[in-house]
Amino acid sequence: MNRPSVEFHANLAADEAALGEPQRVAGAMRAFTREIGALSALRLESCVHCGMCADACHFYIATEDPQYTPVLKVEPFKQAFKREAAAFAPFFRWFALKPQVTADELERWQHLLFDSCNMCGRCSLICPMGIDVAELIEQARRGLFEAGLAPKELYEKAAHQRRTGQPEDSSEPYRDRLLAIGRQFNVEMPIDKPQAEVMLTVPRTDIEHYPAAVAALARVMAHLKADCTFRSDGLIAENYGYYAGGRAWQREISLRLIEQARACKAKVLIVPECGHAYTALRWEAAELIGKPLPLKVRHITEYLAEALADGRLKLRSADLGVTAFHDPCQLVRKGGVTSAPRRLLHAMGIEPRETTRHVGFNVCCGGGGGVLDIERAAPLRYRVVEEKFHEIDATGARTFLTSCSDCRRTFDDGKQHFNWQQTPRSLLELVAEHLQGG
Ligand code: SF4
Ligand code: SF4
Repeated sequence: MNRPSVEFHANLAADEAALGEPQRVAGAMRAFTREIGALSALRLESCVHCGMCADACHFYIATEDPQYTPVLKVEPFKQAFKREAAAFAPFFRWFALKPQVTADELERWQHLLFDSCNMCGRCSLICPMGIDVAELIEQARRGLFEAGLAPKELYEKAAHQRRTGQPEDSSEPYRDRLLAIGRQFNVEMPIDKPQAEVMLTVPRTDIEHYPAAVAALARVMAHLKADCTFRSDGLIAENYGYYAGGRAWQREISLRLIEQARACKAKVLIVPECGHAYTALRWEAAELIGKPLPLKVRHITEYLAEALADGRLKLRSADLGVTAFHDPCQLVRKGGVTSAPRRLLHAMGIEPRETTRHVGFNVCCGGGGGVLDIERAAPLRYRVVEEKFHEIDATGARTFLTSCSDCRRTFDDGKQHFNWQQTPRSLLELVAEHLQGG
């Protein structure tokens, strides 16, 4: 038998996995269709094909390839709904008005829904008909997950995180790693306190690549004299269930953090410099869990800006020369966190030189939404990041900052690839370096 041209991940039942490719494709379509609401499919009917969303999407901008037009990425959605679930579905099938989906097509959908979408929301912002294309793409990701078609890297990390709380095995438990970072940077790591006002989480990206950012978080919280703790059973901020489209897994991963916060009676849960973790916890967790969260969720940038406003945080001037700042799309477009980073910069005497497209209209780094983890997506991602580099270079900035570890990592990876001259830096680390009296 020929090898299937599309890779189904392991959540298919053994009997399904033993089926031939046409049956598996049919099963995948049924699972995909179950996730599609009629309302979502019909929303697409209001599209007037103006093409404005194409000009909003960095994957289209970087390649000018029409397949990356956002609304066309959700075309499978319409096709599957019309063929499988709409009122006239039998009619569409009998007269072959919507051709049967093939394995090759499923593979193309994986590419369009996962490799070439960061769920950044820029297309939704720009659509004159108010179609939330990004939300539809998220929904279609869920359909592909249910169909056994999430990319392997995301599926495996989501499964691991659901089981263990961390997305993959590490050479040492993250708790030990955290304590080692504390020793390395000479800062106390509050961990597993039975009770605390504030629970802290960390990005796995920082634990593995940017330990100074982890130390900066602890240092800043100590400076604020905040009653806070990390929890070894609820440490990692990223939610791979969200990236992979596994809704139930996303819920479990969020719930683990909320339960840990509840166990230590925290009133605030801090999401560190990670954009999608913020969306998953601040905007999606309550809906998934089915009740209001028992605490406030704050991105560290928001938390620090609040501390600045109430006088607890005092910062010294930083001499960085011309500085540019990259707004993580999840913070500005989904969270409206636009002024907080600029207030922090201002307090250090920095007025950022804005890129042409900035704040709510800023263009994504290209790595968010799990794209950075998908190996085969790298060549396309580089084309996107190259565009960003041109935009940042055009500001003439000597220093380049952001407040999301995955953005930072995407830029760092691009830097290696293109030998870019800038080194992306963390806003949180900068704050920790400029604490008054620190
Ligand atoms: S959400 Fe962002 S990456 Fe995805 S299609 Fe829209 S603009 Fe493109
Ligand atoms: S911007 Fe909106 S109306 Fe225009 S093509 Fe895209 S989805 Fe359709």
